[in-house]
Amino acid sequence: MTTFSETFGTAPDGAWRAPGRVNLIGEHTDYNDGLVLPIALPNQISVTASAREDGVVAVSTNGQKGVIEFALDSLEPGSVTDWATYPAGMAWILRESGYAIGGANLFVDSDLPTGAGLSSSAALLCATGVALLGLRGIEVDPAEVARLAQKAENSYVGAPVGLMDQMASMCCTSGHALYFDIRAMSTEQIPFDPEAEGLTLLVIDVKAPHRHVDGEYAARRKSCENAAAALGVPALRSIALADLDDALSRLSDDVDRRRVRHVVTEIDRVEQAVALMHAGRLRDVGPLFTASHASLRDDFEITVPELDVAVDTALAAGALGARMTGGGFGGCIIALVETAKADETFTAIEKAFQEHGFRTPSSLAATPSPGASKLN
Ligand code: ADP
Ligand code: MG
Repeated sequence: MTTFSETFGTAPDGAWRAPGRVNLIGEHTDYNDGLVLPIALPNQISVTASAREDGVVAVSTNGQKGVIEFALDSLEPGSVTDWATYPAGMAWILRESGYAIGGANLFVDSDLPTGAGLSSSAALLCATGVALLGLRGIEVDPAEVARLAQKAENSYVGAPVGLMDQMASMCCTSGHALYFDIRAMSTEQIPFDPEAEGLTLLVIDVKAPHRHVDGEYAARRKSCENAAAALGVPALRSIALADLDDALSRLSDDVDRRRVRHVVTEIDRVEQAVALMHAGRLRDVGPLFTASHASLRDDFEITVPELDVAVDTALAAGALGARMTGGGFGGCIIALVETAKADETFTAIEKAFQEHGFRTPSSLAATPSPGASKLN
C-alpha cells in the first residue's frame, strides 16, 4: 500500500490478485482440442488500484521505475509497448467488449517468477481485469474474464496462446486441479491435495536460456494440424487411443507420426490421472508424469538437457514421478515427492546442475491455490 501511495499520491480503493499456474499433465494438447489439468500456484500477481475520472489508466510495477499512462479511448493494438502491453491489452478488450470500466491507477506487485513458464503473463492480465472491473463494481463470470484475457494476449500482446493459463488463473480452487476439456469447453474441479497425503509437488525452474521457442511451437502446431488433416479429423483429439496404431499406419511422415503419438497418449494420460485422483491414489499419478516426460522428450522433442537432467535426478532421488511442464525448451519441471524427501531431492538437482555446468535452479512448493480474487 505504501508503494501505491508513494507512486500515485493517493490512497488505493482496493487490491486484487491472480495466481500463476503449473500444468500437472496434458502438455501440447490444448491446440489439439484436448485435455489439460493445471493447478493455480500460491505465487501471484497483485494489483492495488484506485479509480480515476479522467479516462486515463496509469500503471506502475514493483520491478521497474516510473509510471506508464494511456488514455482508454485511444487504445488500439500497438499503441502501448513494453510490459504495459499486458494491462493495456486487458483494458482494451474490456472496453471493446462493452464493459463500462474507467480510468485507474494500478500498482503491480508479484512474487511469481517472470518468463519461467509459470504464466506471469496470464496472471498479470487476469489481475488487471479483476481490478478494472472490481473498481467499478462490475461482476463478470471468471471464465468470461479468462476468455477476455486470452483475447487480449492473442490480439493485443500478439502471443498465440491457448485458454489454459487464463482459465487456471481465474477458475482454480484450493486443494483442486482444474480438469479443462477444450473441445467441450467444460471444467471440473478434481481433488488434489498432496500435502494431506504427505506429498509435495516441487516446481523447479531450470533457468535454461530460451532457445527458438516461438518457431518450435509453431512447427509443433503445424505438424499436428497437418496430421489431423491427413487423417480427416478436425483435431487430434478425435483419435482414440484404441485407434492410434491404425492412425499411425496411415501417416507417411515419421516426424508427424511421433507428434501424433505424443498427443494421443498424453490425452489418455490426463484421463488416467483424473481417475486416479478421484480414487485418492495420488502416488500412482507419479508414473504418468514420468511417462509424459518421456513422450515429450522422445516423440514431441521439446525438452532440453536441463529439463532431462532435472527429471532424471529427481527420479533417482526417489521422486514418485517427474516431468517437464509448460511449452518446453526451458521453463520448469514438476516432481511429485514424499515431503520428507523434498529437500534432498532439490539438493540433488542443484548438485547435478553444478556438475553439468548449468545455471543454479530454484524451487517452490506448489500448493494448489485459489484463482483470482479481491485481496482487500
Ligand atoms: P510467463 O507467462 O511464462 O511468465 P511470458 O513471456 O508469457 O512468460 O510473460 C512474461 C512477461 O509478462 C514479462 O516480460 C512482462 O512483460 C510481463 N510481466 C510479468 N510479470 C510482471 C510484473 N510483475 N510486472 C510487470 N510485467 C510483468
Ligand atoms: Mg506467458
